[in-house]
Amino acid sequence: MKSLLKRLSLLIHSIRFRLALMFVVILGMVILLFSGFVYTRQKSDLRAAAVTRLNAKVQRLAAVLRYSESDFFEHTPLRIPSDPNNQDALLQESDVLAFLNTDEEVIQSWGPLEAKYIPTLAGEALAAENGDRKLTTRLFSARLQTAEERENYVFMLAPITFERRFAGYYLIGSPVDPDRQLPRLLVSLGIGIFLTLALALVGGFWLADRAMRPVQQITDTARTIGETDLSRRLNLNRRDELGELADTFDDMLARLQAAFERQRQFTADASHELRTPLTIVDLETSRALAAHRPAQEYERALGVIKSENQFMIRLVNNLLTLARMDAGQVILQKEVVDLSDVALEVVERLAPIALKEQVRLSTGELPELPVLGDRQYLAQMLSNLVENGIKYSSGENRSVAVETGTRDGKTGREAWARVTDNGQGIPPDHLPHLFDRFYQVDKARTQQDRDEEPANGQASGSGLGLSIVQWIARAHGGEVQVTSEVGRGTTFEVRLPLEGNGSTG
Ligand code: ADP
Repeated sequence: MKSLLKRLSLLIHSIRFRLALMFVVILGMVILLFSGFVYTRQKSDLRAAAVTRLNAKVQRLAAVLRYSESDFFEHTPLRIPSDPNNQDALLQESDVLAFLNTDEEVIQSWGPLEAKYIPTLAGEALAAENGDRKLTTRLFSARLQTAEERENYVFMLAPITFERRFAGYYLIGSPVDPDRQLPRLLVSLGIGIFLTLALALVGGFWLADRAMRPVQQITDTARTIGETDLSRRLNLNRRDELGELADTFDDMLARLQAAFERQRQFTADASHELRTPLTIVDLETSRALAAHRPAQEYERALGVIKSENQFMIRLVNNLLTLARMDAGQVILQKEVVDLSDVALEVVERLAPIALKEQVRLSTGELPELPVLGDRQYLAQMLSNLVENGIKYSSGENRSVAVETGTRDGKTGREAWARVTDNGQGIPPDHLPHLFDRFYQVDKARTQQDRDEEPANGQASGSGLGLSIVQWIARAHGGEVQVTSEVGRGTTFEVRLPLEGNGSTG
């Protein structure tokens, strides 16, 4: 019982039901209007026909009546032929005919209306004419209570004159709808309306059900998509609005899946990156603790541990930075800063490392370049690039050059900063992935670097630096690009919109 009620309430609240109901209500209103129109049309047609009939009777009455003054006033019963089987007879059974004298008293009457009611009827008709124009013919309607029921009649009240002298009236009436057409029409319309609406309800529900079926399909599929199973798609393959909805839904699922996959990959890569240094630290400590060793051995082990620790600190810092960037938690404190100034500051800060690595770190012309940005993040961006330059420059005369300048870009004047090294370059097929997280061109080489130079805090990487560079450049409305030639070197160029008119550049 309860489940039946629940299903009933679900049905009543369903869009299908409401659509069908709305359909029926609107259709019902239209049909009612239409039926009303048909009914009133029929009613006025019937009245017009009754008036025509009445006129014919009046004319025939004049021909049939051979009344003389004495006949009329001496109350001699007039013989009015009444034949119910003859349509052409002057009077039918339901017709009313009466003669009245000048005082509106009934002299003779025929038909279903009792004589005592006739003066009232005639008096009302005459009163409506202000009682003055006694000699005009009047046409009026009235509802009569005949033996069976109340019926609408049309009447004609006309004066009788003898030798130009006003002698009285005659009243003739005929039912508007003698064949009872209107009640039959009403019944037919009622049955028709009921059947049409019932059919419309069923048909409307069926149509709405059909139209809403894909929604059910979407709901069902959406229900089966678990948290980790984002590979399912609706694949509705329809060209209508619901198809569009399903496609949008599928696109969203695809984006979610990609994001989910990236997240998963990111976590896996991060764990993987952390596993190596942790294993090294574990090995070194185990080895040092296994037996008594000379002091240099402990120093070396501590050196390795420190280096791995620094790597992990950098990695975790980078991961945190990226996570905050992803979460939109990084709020840039933008102000007008001179990009060249920032570049100079970065070069000065990294000069000792370059010296230690025997890399010639030089600057080109550094014109004033006002850009709107967060000084700290812009410095981090350039310093990642310069650090990479130092790291990946090679050969006898290792060198890294930092230059800045302006140019006309797509959206007006742009400031650019370039970091060029003379390293071994990057093969073209790696370039599209360079800014991906954890992407390293030569994983083995970078790993080896770290092992070989345990004390060098700058030597090792984990492939996050360029992702951060790209994020900072984009967050400032700019872009970073790379050009590289294998064996000759690599150039990274950052472009940022120039603040003001840029004439200083
Ligand atoms: P990493 O911490 O490994 O340097 P990055 O995101 O900064 O990570 O760089 C990604 C990869 O791009 C590096 O592993 C390296 O292979 C390559 N790369 C970056 N800068 C240079 C460069 N100046 N010359 C050659 N290769 C580079």
